[in-house]
Amino acid sequence: MDAGFAEIKKLEALLDFFSDDSEISAINKAAGYKAVKVSVETLDIIKKALMVSDDTNGAFDPAIGPLTKLWGFSGKGAAGIPQDGKIKNILPLINYKKIMINSSLSEVSLQKKGMEMDLGAIAKGYAADKVIEAIKAAGIQAALVSIAGDIKGFGIKPDGKPWRVGIQDPRADGIFAAIDLQDKAVSTSGDYQRYFIKDGRRYHHIMDPKTGYPASVAISVSVIADNGYAADSFSTGVFVLGPEKGIKLLESMGLSGIIVDAAKKIHLTKDLDGKITIEKPLFPPCKKIHQARKSCQNHL
Ligand code: AMP
Ligand code: MG
Repeated sequence: MDAGFAEIKKLEALLDFFSDDSEISAINKAAGYKAVKVSVETLDIIKKALMVSDDTNGAFDPAIGPLTKLWGFSGKGAAGIPQDGKIKNILPLINYKKIMINSSLSEVSLQKKGMEMDLGAIAKGYAADKVIEAIKAAGIQAALVSIAGDIKGFGIKPDGKPWRVGIQDPRADGIFAAIDLQDKAVSTSGDYQRYFIKDGRRYHHIMDPKTGYPASVAISVSVIADNGYAADSFSTGVFVLGPEKGIKLLESMGLSGIIVDAAKKIHLTKDLDGKITIEKPLFPPCKKIHQARKSCQNHL
């Protein structure tokens, strides 16, 4: 346990977007004028993040930082909807192709002043990978590591069964599905954790880098992968892409996924057919309220 938590602390000190003295902060402060020397871990996670950005055609974009700050979901609470002009102004800064890496010097730079890197959609999954490496090295033979919505299991439970993980119902308490995890990671990105509702619309923390507004084609995306960093970053990217492009992408990458779209329909990659348990149909209580022609918070 100590080895695992020490790993999380170390990574947090390097990668925290909001801490003034993390390496990510140093890179962000130097945006537009110089490259910054970084640790092996920081270089490694940025390289992985850029690969996923390419794979998702920029739907996952670690240069999302200026939008994260403008919307304010990750701080003390979102301030409301930013002015459209302000969103449009910062869109040119949200571009992972302007994150430059010099591997031999272990240096990273951001090409434009005002750019900011935010690894919030990959760091927890990456940390889960590192925690498992650390506790394996300490002699542990099986474990389930959960860092918020980013979960990785290795080995099997003492009763000989794989780890069983529930997927949160995006609009009600409890779970809507369960999956078995053996030497795999699962991450869920949802619009129900950090959000506010204004004029009947839900605004949340996962941004479409192309529009600067919260992505609205899905409400929950879970991705299962060998590595935590991949499950984490692809769940965020696929959340932005939506069910059609998302399922295609996951299948082409050999990843598994469960997508709940904006109409609450559940989409699965082919390999999961018959392999996951759908515990209950989604959102039954709201139907009644709809029939009574009243608005239903659960359906926003
Ligand atoms: P997750 O909960 O893993 O989906 O990550 C959400 C967090 O990632 C947000 O709070 C932002 O910090 C960041 N983020 C939001 N939208 C994106 C995006 N399109 N690509 C990369 N990171 C994002
Ligand atoms: Mg993620």
